[in-house]
Amino acid sequence: MSAEKKAVTVVGSGTMGNGIAHVFAQFGYSVTLCDVKQEFLDRALNIIRGNLDRQLKKGTITEEQKAQTFGRIHPTLDLQGASKGADLVIEAATENEQLKKQLFKDIDKFAPAGCIIASNTSSISITELAAVTSRPDKVIGMHFMNPVPVMKLVEVIRGLATSNETFQTIKALSESLEKVPVEVNDYPGFVSNRVLLPMLNEAMYCVMEGVATPESIDTVMKLGMNHPMGPLALADFIGLDVCLSIMEVLHTGLGDSKYRACPLLKKMVAAGHLGRKTGKGFYIYTTGS
Ligand code: NAD
Repeated sequence: MSAEKKAVTVVGSGTMGNGIAHVFAQFGYSVTLCDVKQEFLDRALNIIRGNLDRQLKKGTITEEQKAQTFGRIHPTLDLQGASKGADLVIEAATENEQLKKQLFKDIDKFAPAGCIIASNTSSISITELAAVTSRPDKVIGMHFMNPVPVMKLVEVIRGLATSNETFQTIKALSESLEKVPVEVNDYPGFVSNRVLLPMLNEAMYCVMEGVATPESIDTVMKLGMNHPMGPLALADFIGLDVCLSIMEVLHTGLGDSKYRACPLLKKMVAAGHLGRKTGKGFYIYTTGS
């Protein structure tokens, strides 16, 4: 498969899946977008339409490009049909190991022998996903960042058995989307979460120990380190439950106590204070804030 190929299937149409579908379609690929309920697909198409409208207003695309992009996205509930004609399947379903392993088994069964199967997982081992398929050399991680149409990075994760050919194809393909691919080997948290999450976790320890308030910690990191967003505002944005599960992946996978989740983080998650999505985390959010 070269970067010129055109048939991409995206499995899962949530936050990441609809962004991935949008970007591939924008750069001329024919995209099949697959989910388990029609209402999820409808919601995804609405979000894509809204994001295309925003690009149109900013003048980054024309009315014609908007229509063409939207026209290249084909929603479906049929995983088998969606996998059948694909050159590349990108799995962007819910972050759950059992669910992803089942999806990889199914996609492997339905997709043509030459098809590459990629996962957008943030924390599940690419090597383990590859191991449930008959084509571990053609399984790879394509870790896009949120929001996909805006963020330039794709962490391209090589599982233990990923072939050079698969890696080179995905690298070229990422570049064809005007993204910057970075090669990373398969270890817990890859690079992005391995470096980011311990910093967010440490900021939480600072709150717990009374070193400073969340506002002060975020101000130190924004004005002192030139970070566009403070670590606690960022943790609220990511979701504190997601932060906790990634810390647990690092702790379990690397076996070093330096990755233990901050007790305050655990307590906040237990209380249902998950950040922006519940209106309460290290900050309080009112609708629209
Ligand atoms: P999400 O909950 O917004 O969307 C997941 C979608 O997958 C849902 O629409 C769900 O219905 C669908 N799905 C579940 N089971 C399915 C199945 N069997 N077949 C087809 N679709 C199915 O989740 P998200 O935030 O888009 O995350 C998706 C993946 O991307 C996860 O692996 C996550 O770790 C990763 N990721 C997320 C972010 C982020 O910031 N949200 C960033 C990078 C990577």
